[in-house]
Amino acid sequence: MTSSINRKRTPPPTPKRLRPSIRLDAVHPIDFLKYDFTFACEQCSHFAPNNDPQKESGGGLCTIGYSTEPHRREANLKSYELSGRMAFCRFLEVD
Ligand code: SF4
Repeated sequence: MTSSINRKRTPPPTPKRLRPSIRLDAVHPIDFLKYDFTFACEQCSHFAPNNDPQKESGGGLCTIGYSTEPHRREANLKSYELSGRMAFCRFLEVD
């Protein structure tokens, strides 16, 4: 009987996501207002507005094959206004 009392109950493992979600980074409002930082596909060297098969929906692919939709300026600003978080692309490059 004591063994069942002492046994720790652990929660069941979280099911694995079918598709990984984008990790959003928190941006402090002071930093957002103070710094003119680069965060959007439109500022990136890999951005290819003409290589955009889904132009009407605002999505598309850049020259290295990533979906630009979550990293576009408009989408990032909307995300920041709603949650204080932005989706920074780790491959953003400025020449
Ligand atoms: S590398 Fe990242 S930031 Fe640059 S265009 Fe592609 S998705 Fe956008």
